[in-house]
Amino acid sequence: LVLNRELEIQKSVAENAAVELDRYNKQLELSSRYKSEFLANMSHELRTPLNSMLILSQLLIENRSNTLSEEELGYVSVIHSSGSDLLAMINDILDFSKVEAGKMQVEMDAVNLTELPALLTGYFDKTAAKRSLEFSVQVEEDVPDLFFTDEMRMHQILRNLLSNAFKFTEHGFVQVKISCAENPFAVQDYQQERMLAFAVIDSGIGISEANRELVFEAFRQADGTTARKYGGTGLGLSISLQLARLLGGHITLQSEEGKGSTFTLYLPYLQEETDIPLIPLGA
Ligand code: ADP
Repeated sequence: LVLNRELEIQKSVAENAAVELDRYNKQLELSSRYKSEFLANMSHELRTPLNSMLILSQLLIENRSNTLSEEELGYVSVIHSSGSDLLAMINDILDFSKVEAGKMQVEMDAVNLTELPALLTGYFDKTAAKRSLEFSVQVEEDVPDLFFTDEMRMHQILRNLLSNAFKFTEHGFVQVKISCAENPFAVQDYQQERMLAFAVIDSGIGISEANRELVFEAFRQADGTTARKYGGTGLGLSISLQLARLLGGHITLQSEEGKGSTFTLYLPYLQEETDIPLIPLGA
């Protein structure tokens, strides 16, 4: 009898705990949704006035170069470039909140890979020259001209990886190597047999083994001093990885401290606008 009573007490304690846990989980879910909504709304509201500042300062640079003094033009250029940096950060926060809320949409379309090298060089040539770094884009022969993915998101990931490569490299080179390879991942996770690999290679500061997984986490940077020295929000890699997964791909990292890093974006080699369900691994 005593044993039965004891069992009943324990059962009721367990039931109460389960109810508590359920309530707690619901609260957690709700506050996470509020946070994402707040981030999305705030970023949207901040973008509108910032866009006016950017457009107007651009107009001053283009149309008033004769009437403004060199010093004044310098000030306007700083306003414009600081505004652009701020906009990039706000866009990162907006993207991050969309991915977190599961609201990031991808639009698959035919992408012409033959145009990519010129596009990337056009985008980063000036940065490379300013930093006295060699920059090259190399395409292997077996890379197809066309494949299907979300072009805008693919560019966004590559721009993120390349901006980091330039940011964390003081001497030497930044390279992009595009190849078509056997799927290096477990096939049950990534259904495509062949994948396109976009390797972004730099001869920069490198990342220690302890930090190699951590840098893909949101708001994380390899070490506390990085933020002060190089700036940044710590969101770029987290967003890039989530986007790569939404496209059915992945990002890998190889690095050696003091020697450099290679971030490789893998995307499935889809030959047609296919219905193959993309697997947002862990998303
Ligand atoms: P952010 O660049 O805004 O700090 P990221 O998510 O893009 O955020 O990168 C996270 C961290 O990963 C960086 O702060 C840096 O410590 C490290 N990192 C990223 N790319 C490189 C690279 N190419 N070389 C060395 N460290 C890197």
